[in-house]
Amino acid sequence: MRIKRLLKRAVLQDRIGQGLIMAGPRGVGKHKFAIALAQALNCLNPVEEKSLPFEGDGCDVCLACRRIARGEHADVRTIAAEKQVIKIEQTREMSREAYFRPYEGRRRVYIIDDAERLNEKAANSILKTLEEPPRTSLIVLITSKPYALLETIRSRCQILSFAPLAADELEAHLAANFRRPPEETRLLARLARGSIGRAMEIDLGEYRAHRSAMMEIIEALAITRDTILLLDRAEYLGRKLERAEFERHMDILMVLLEDIFHLKLGKPAESLTNADIGERLSAASEAVTLDQIMNWVEGIEQLFEKMTRNINRHIAMETMLIDG
Ligand SMILES: [Zn+2]
Repeated sequence: MRIKRLLKRAVLQDRIGQGLIMAGPRGVGKHKFAIALAQALNCLNPVEEKSLPFEGDGCDVCLACRRIARGEHADVRTIAAEKQVIKIEQTREMSREAYFRPYEGRRRVYIIDDAERLNEKAANSILKTLEEPPRTSLIVLITSKPYALLETIRSRCQILSFAPLAADELEAHLAANFRRPPEETRLLARLARGSIGRAMEIDLGEYRAHRSAMMEIIEALAITRDTILLLDRAEYLGRKLERAEFERHMDILMVLLEDIFHLKLGKPAESLTNADIGERLSAASEAVTLDQIMNWVEGIEQLFEKMTRNINRHIAMETMLIDG
């Protein structure tokens, strides 16, 4: 990614200061990038890219690169919250060390994960270091909530924003790193909405099973008008499932309706989140009108609203599926 290259080059040419904030949603590779940056700064044989003659990338294989990747390099440390907070005890040593020359590499790099979790004292100790920054150290604050950092910290750092990955980028990343049938990789990339972290957490087998159950509801509503199946599903979703589980099912139902909506608007089947069941979705889309889809979406939203008011979920579910 271009911005990352430019940043890395800037760091290597010493054009950025000693503080850097990497801001962006979880799971888009901020930590990984911080590690790559630390490797580039300390690599024993930096790789020079032909297109960018001054950029040295970490080689990934030298002793320094490997030690950094394993978290064993004396000059590269990651600090993360223990029990939701980062305390002064965790940053004190860093604040002292930062003033000394690097121990084995060229530059000390401190990576603070979830920096919004720094408590007041810890944040102030970091601020102090940033006020008189040692040239041989770099502090990288990683956060999904940059606005939650002290304004005084933010003003002393360069901020680098990470956007969610485009579905195509994510798909390419997953394809390069994990062996899966292309169809699954594609589905996963679309479901993960730009986050590698989320993609790792999705259980595709479970997703497919839930999806199939939700698809049957749509088909019963749109095509077969199978009231018995609908009553049965209302009972299952309304009574048998835990709340979190129920919400996961409703999320899937929403994504399916969104796909059908897109088909109705004439978008190609390959562009759907659930492109792998494109034919089933097409059949459903031919049987419904745009208005019906909108009504269902509205019905689901009302259902959630009723649930927050503690109205019986089962009755609400029946109303939506049978009378709606
Ligand atoms: Zn190296």
